Amino acid sequence: MKLLENKVALVTGASRGIGEAVALKFAEQGASVAFTYLSSVEKATALEERLAGMGVKAKGYKSDAGDFKAAEQLTADVLKDFGTIDICVNNAGISKDNLLLRLTPEQWDDVIQANLKSVYNLTKQVMRPMMKARSGSIINMSSVVGMKGNGGQSAYAASKAGIIGFTKSIAQEIGSRNIRCNAIAPGFIETDMTHYLKDGGAEKWFEKIPLGRFGKTEDVANAALYLASDMSLYVTGQVLSVCGGMNM
Ligand code: NAP
Repeated sequence: MKLLENKVALVTGASRGIGEAVALKFAEQGASVAFTYLSSVEKATALEERLAGMGVKAKGYKSDAGDFKAAEQLTADVLKDFGTIDICVNNAGISKDNLLLRLTPEQWDDVIQANLKSVYNLTKQVMRPMMKARSGSIINMSSVVGMKGNGGQSAYAASKAGIIGFTKSIAQEIGSRNIRCNAIAPGFIETDMTHYLKDGGAEKWFEKIPLGRFGKTEDVANAALYLASDMSLYVTGQVLSVCGGMNM
């Protein structure tokens, strides 16, 4: 028996990186997978085909996570196509790094909208079918930076810290309906988003990571699988760090 058999998962921002790994992991464990992307049409089509090749129902939707109306439409479309939503992974996100002296209001707004408002947008939508089903798992992608802060990343850190407060609040609001809401706080995971870190030499980062390496997208996908599955039925309102120990 696979861990997500008969479940429908909606994963935002799955055309690349962590979201893609989560979509593949969930499919491997038997879930039907609806996923979103913003502009990577070819990658999304390739993922849709790869997921279908794994024998599960899969569909990609072009949908801007920061847009409330788009989240409303997305949820309606996924419910029409898949019938239900058991698992929602709010993963889509961006970083626009700058010291506060140089950080523009536009950069601040872009990051908060894509990373934090997006979580509000979709959680508000998916909780309705989950409440009806009296079951569900919502997983929000935060970051170690949301717990520790990081110079040059104030907007990103604020958005990721906001996700933690949101997650804990929602867990309290809908726990009685058997809907769980947890966050994952990845450390440095090898994706397009962190590509630039390697330019300055990876070794200096490894000194700060007890496990001595960057994380792989699959490391985060495994944590998402745990939180999505019945293995974590008594876990809600938590932040699971997947950071090689750098958050101690
Ligand atoms: P990534 O490789 O840059 O991929 C980002 C994904 O999000 C892409 O699929 C992108 O779609 C999608 N996306 C971006 N803005 C969107 C929007 N407005 N609407 C819909 N989709 C959108 O990033 P990643 O490293 O996998 O990060 C995934 C999540 O983990 C983010 O929330 C990030 O903050 C968090 N995280 C990452 C790390 C890390 O070290 N990588 C660490 C901590 C937390 P397109 O391909 O269409 O642009």
